[in-house]
Order: sequence, then C-alpha cells, then structure tokens
Amino acid sequence: MLAEKLAKIGLLTIQDMLFHLPFRYEDRTKLQPIGKLYAFQQAVIEGEIQGCDVVYGKRRSLVCRIEDSSGSICLRFYHFSLQQQRSLAKGFRIRCFGEIRPGASGLEIYHPEYQLLEKGQFKPLEKNLTPCYHTTEGLSQARLRLLLEQAFECVTSEIADLLPSQDTVSLIERLRFLHKPPQQAPIDQLLNGKHPYQQALIKEELTAYQLSLLRLRQQRQQQMAPALHPQPNLIDTFISTLPFELTQAQQRVCAEISQDLAQNQPMLRLLQGDVGSGKTIVAAVCALQASANHKQVALMAPTEILAEQHRINFERWLEPLGIRFAWLSGKQKASIKREQLAAIGSGDAQIVIGTHALFQDNVKFHDLALVIIDEQHRFGVHQRLQLRDKGKKGQVISHQLIMTATPIPRTLAMSAYADLDYSVIDQLPQGRIPVETVAISQNRRIEVIERIRQACLQGRQAYWVCTLIEQSETLSAQAAEETALHLKALLSELNIGLVHGRLKASEKAEAMEAFKNGDTHLLVATTVIEVGVDVPNASLMIIENPERLGLAQLHQLRGRVGRGANISHCVMLYGDKLSKIGKARLNAMRETTDGFRIAEIDLELRGPGEVLGTRQTGDIDFKLANLERDIAILPKIKQQALQLLESDSDICEQLISRWIGNSERFAQA
Ligand code: ADP
Ligand code: MG
Repeated sequence: MLAEKLAKIGLLTIQDMLFHLPFRYEDRTKLQPIGKLYAFQQAVIEGEIQGCDVVYGKRRSLVCRIEDSSGSICLRFYHFSLQQQRSLAKGFRIRCFGEIRPGASGLEIYHPEYQLLEKGQFKPLEKNLTPCYHTTEGLSQARLRLLLEQAFECVTSEIADLLPSQDTVSLIERLRFLHKPPQQAPIDQLLNGKHPYQQALIKEELTAYQLSLLRLRQQRQQQMAPALHPQPNLIDTFISTLPFELTQAQQRVCAEISQDLAQNQPMLRLLQGDVGSGKTIVAAVCALQASANHKQVALMAPTEILAEQHRINFERWLEPLGIRFAWLSGKQKASIKREQLAAIGSGDAQIVIGTHALFQDNVKFHDLALVIIDEQHRFGVHQRLQLRDKGKKGQVISHQLIMTATPIPRTLAMSAYADLDYSVIDQLPQGRIPVETVAISQNRRIEVIERIRQACLQGRQAYWVCTLIEQSETLSAQAAEETALHLKALLSELNIGLVHGRLKASEKAEAMEAFKNGDTHLLVATTVIEVGVDVPNASLMIIENPERLGLAQLHQLRGRVGRGANISHCVMLYGDKLSKIGKARLNAMRETTDGFRIAEIDLELRGPGEVLGTRQTGDIDFKLANLERDIAILPKIKQQALQLLESDSDICEQLISRWIGNSERFAQA
C-alpha cells in the first residue's frame, strides 16, 4: 500500500512530504554532445544506434553503441531481456540519461535510463532540475515526484517560518524551489547544500534535532532512579589503599558522578578520558557508592579480555572490603553460569562484570541501580537501553555511566550527545612519558625484529599487532598465527605468546596472564587488544600495516604502551602503497599523543560519521543537514535550541514535529 510505503520513510502528513527534501539533483535540462562527455558526469544524450551486441567478457553484457554528430559512446547492460536486445536495433534514435564511466570501450554508461524515439519525434527536455529523494522499495523517484506535486496542490495556507528569517520569499515558495529548481538554478550550490534556502532550512533542522535531544533529557529527568547516597568515609578509606593518588581530574569526575548518583533521577553520563587516563578506578569508586547503598552494579565491557581484566582489578580492589562479585562470559560452562545467574538474581552478587552476556534475557537482577559501560563506541544505543531496562521497576530505572576512550571533539560531542551529561578526565596520571612513535617501511622488518630482540633481552616486553583489511576474525587469527610462527623462528631465545579472537576464553586469559606476569616477552595479537588492556611493563609496540586502521584505533592500540616508568616506543610498520590519507594519519600519530587532538585530525580526515561510530552513521538520517559539512554552525545552534526550549515550547513542538516528526529514530533513544 502506498500509505505504508510512505510511512516507512516517515511521510505521514502533507507537511512531512513538503519537508522531504531532495538529497541530490540531476540536470536533465540540456542535451550533451557525446563528443564532449567526461567521466563521472551525469548527462542526457541523444543519438542513433549503430549496433547492439552481446559481449562475453568476465560477465555477459549487452553493448549498444550510439552516435551523434560529435562522437559515439557505448551503453552497457548486465541485465537485459531478449526483447530489450531486439528493440535496440540499428538505426533507431535513442535518448538516455546516466553517469558517464570509463569502461572497456572508452567512456560508457551502465544501465542508463533510456527512451526510444520515433522517426522525427521531438521530445522536450526537462524544464527543471530533477530532484532525487530518499525512498524505499516499491516507491520510485517518479512516483515520489508526482506525489510531491500533488502535495503542493493541497497546501492552502502559508507555512510559517519557525525561526526568524530574513527571506522575503515565502517558505512555501522556497520549498517549491528546492523540490523543483528552475533550469538556471545554481546546481553546484544546491548539490553542496549551500543555497541560501537550504542553509536556512539546515539551521532549522539542526535546531529541531538539538531540541529533540534536549527534550529526551527532560523526559529522563522526570523518570525516577534510586538515590545512592554518597559514602565519603568509605571511599576515602578505599582510595587510601591504592598504590597511587587520584589525579585532580579523576577526583573532579568522581565528585560529579557521585553527586548525580545521589539524585533520585537517573544519571546518564558520558565519561571521556584519553587512553590510560584511569577511567577504571573511577568506575570502581562509583560502583562502591552503589554497593554501599545495598544496590547492584553491572559493569559491561566489549571484549572478553577486557571484561576479565576488569574483574581482576575490581576483585583486587573491592573484595578486601567484602564486596561480592558475579562474572558472566559468553563461553562459560553451563553449571557455572547457573550459579552466577542465581547469585545475580538473589542479590547475593553485588557487582556483576561481563561482556554482552549481561544483556541476555535470562539475566535477572535483584536490584540493579547502576550500569557502567566501558568503551561505549562498541555498543549500539539499543544494547545500552536493553541493559538499562534490566534495572527497571515501574517508573524507576538505573543510573548509567558510559565510558569511552575515543575522544570526540567538543563541538561534535555537544551536538551528538546533547541528551547526555558529559565528564572529561583531561589529565594523565603523573609521570607518564609520551610514547615515541616512528613510521618505518616493511622493507626494514628485519631491523625491527632485531630491535625487539634487544629490548626484550633487556627485560622489556613488546606487542606485535597484526592488522587485516577485512574485518574477519578467522582471517586475522590466521595472520596472527602465521606471524607468531615466523617470529618464533627468528627470535628463538624469546618466549612468544599469541592472542586473537578465535581462541577460547580460557586460552586468551592464559595468554594475557602470562604476558602480564612477564612470562612471555612478546605478545603477537590482533586488534582484540585494542581496547583497555593494561600491562605497564610493555613498552614497545609494533603495528603491522597501520595504514589499514583509522586514527582512533591506532591511538587506542598505542595506548597499550607508555603506561610504565620506562620510555615506550611505537613502531608503525607500513606497507609500500600509502595513500595520501594513510600518510596524513601516520604523520598525525608521530606528531601527537593527545587523543583529543587526534580525534580532531580524524574528524578532518574522515568526517564525524566515522568518529562517532554507530551513533551518528546508523541512527540519524537528516533530511538536509550533514554534520560533516555543517559542523561549524553547531555551537550556535545548540545555544539557540537551549534558549528556545526555555522561551517558546510551542515553537519547539512545531520544529520537532516538522523535522523529526513521527519518525521512529528517536522514539526509543
Ligand atoms: P583507561 O582510562 O585507559 O581505562 P586505566 O583505567 O586502564 O585507563 O588505567 C591505566 C593505568 O593507570 C592502570 O594501571 C591504572 O591502575 C593506573 N592509574 C589509574 N589512575 C592512576 C593514578 N591516578 N596514578 C597512577 N596510576 C593510575
Ligand atoms: Mg579502560
């Protein structure tokens, strides 16, 4: 049904239609001479069919050559019917539209849209630029265009500008223009979202988006959570047992969180801190506050290795205080799991640590009040909510602390996480020495291996990280295994360990344990060690083919070293073909160890979708705005949204309903 299809893309009302703006335009208003075409241009051409043949290359295709007075070009079809083949007969005139591509026969058009013309038939060209819309299966562009025409006919009254506007042209006229720009409209401007009409609407849309997040925050503040009273004496005693003092930044953040937890509204706080800034101990302090209030805590980590490490640290820190733990991992024996589940259900376990296993339906908490999620960028919003709801009792939900070492530049964080509170540990523990980083070509691998030998014989420990282009666990496991064998042959006097995603949990834990104890000198690993793993004596890291990784990932990896008293080194062993971006990334890594600076560079090189991970790319599809392109105006937008929220709730509602509407994307956030 049409209505269902429209609903699928969020179009329920006439207003929804009008604000479903084209994401692209095509210029079908002019015929292009075939001889003047260039690659990747979109063009309408018209010519006479010279011949049409089935060609048997790598794939069978139908190739139809057409010619006008300026030159000739081939149309290529990989899917075609016999009838189609017959209809494209020599001598007929044809008009087509498509993208010009370099192909086997020179320039070609794959699967153009086309029409055959009768002899002497004159077919007028489009009078307007052609809009392209986001759509769904079974709803063609042509149909949508038609529906839009009808939508405009239905509009009887003016549509109000919701934000102050300098335009003398009415909003409905501006929308009409954007849906159907005249032939002479500045197409480059339109394609880049820089047309003044677009700019004004982008501001509106981003404001609406901000408002929707701020409203989520307000809604959250109306929910209830168990108030967890601060325990200053207990916490001070605990901290005094640690072998170090908390940094000022850690103390400040602990205080911020402690205060949040004491409220009877749910906390939702993002804790950012560069790799090695000491987030884990902050998590432990918060967990202790909850436990002392006789409530349960769940701590979730994205990998088994990391969860295991948290378990070891937490038990070491908190068991002396009499805190009882439960542990859930995906690969646990059934009998053990049953025991743990029982302890969680009865409330006997006060702190529960685990991986995704914590989400599962059979995990029932007795009285969950605080959820801590480490390395949040690995989890989607939905998983996060699933876990939170495990603490739900009527209107009461649990507090949430989300920790991430992937720094997000401030402007972006402000905008993308406007519904969250936000704390930053902006200081590393004292005495940390920046990691010295070099980039060296694969050709000098032997030298590098020699360097490992020397370092390890002097009592240092090293990581060798294997990367693969494909994100396949099996393949990267294979690569790591081969590398380990190879290095064992060359470095026979060293103990070499191996850890990758394909090992059993117990094998992984064993390998990590041996490395932690100093029994192995060199640990060959895949990027599974990327997050969180902490072995202070490891002071050398080799990253093979670092160009395959993003900056944030490289920074995470490098953060595994530089945690002890010795100066650490990171050697990026790059392959022969470095792209420009690859080179820029390695340079950035050499120049700075500041995670926030690296995030900014990453943003410049790759755009916010990548930097934010799942949250941005998957969940938010703007109609017109593009965070990457429009980042500069975000701070102003945020301010404006805050003001509006206070001053005019009516406009706020209208803005949200106009731009976010009934779309499901925010319904559960
Ligand atoms: P991350 O923020 O990357 O998760 P961790 O919590 O793993 O960092 O901490 C890194 C290392 O620093 C750990 O060995 C931890 O015990 C240690 N550490 C944490 N806080 C301090 C501090 N204030 N002074 C010294 N060492 C600290
Ligand atoms: Mg960590």
